[in-house]
Amino acid sequence: MQNNQSALVLHSGGQDSTTCLFWAKKNFKEVRTLCITYGQRHSLEVALAKKIAYKAGVPFQVLDANVISCLSENSLTNHAMVMDQEKPVDSYPNTFVPGRNLFFLTFAAVIARTHGIKNIVTGVSQADYSGYPDCRDTFIRSANATLNLAMDEQFIIHTPLMWLTKAETWALADELGVLEIVKNDTLTCYNGIIAEGCGYCPACKLRNEGLRGYEELKTKN
Ligand code: ZN
Repeated sequence: MQNNQSALVLHSGGQDSTTCLFWAKKNFKEVRTLCITYGQRHSLEVALAKKIAYKAGVPFQVLDANVISCLSENSLTNHAMVMDQEKPVDSYPNTFVPGRNLFFLTFAAVIARTHGIKNIVTGVSQADYSGYPDCRDTFIRSANATLNLAMDEQFIIHTPLMWLTKAETWALADELGVLEIVKNDTLTCYNGIIAEGCGYCPACKLRNEGLRGYEELKTKN
């Protein structure tokens, strides 16, 4: 599709961004990853992101953005807080980190610019359970326009998972030939357990139900 171009992938070591990394590998000639730390619960994520980047044969960069954790109360960075297991009515679960994706995209764009990269890839999905406002397509398009204006650039933010269900994201990983890597080497679980995780946190439920859905579909066909 865009073989002569390069891309920067926001990579957390989770299922979605790892699938995006391999999607980018297929679609761009050169790929590099950026892993941003922000005081989240599990530093294991960074080690996994590094390992996956190594397996993918792409440069890995980690950026310390711990300041994000000082700005708001949320259960991803405040380890004393009990994590919401479900989305409260009329609000967001306390796993929501306000501004996170705007910070991430801004950092990514600045770093992309220093490498002469125009394409930025992020694994956000509007079809997901969470409904975080900064995972929505309108936000991404708006951020894209803002970053282009801010730096007088022509960035293109790619969101390959935007309209995919979790089952479809698993299907994409399989199609890209990396189902086993995504299954075994990624961390999505809010309790910091690699691969299929603890099984009961919201992230695990979503991930595992998606995988079951995809596997059932695959057996039927
Ligand atoms: Zn879990």
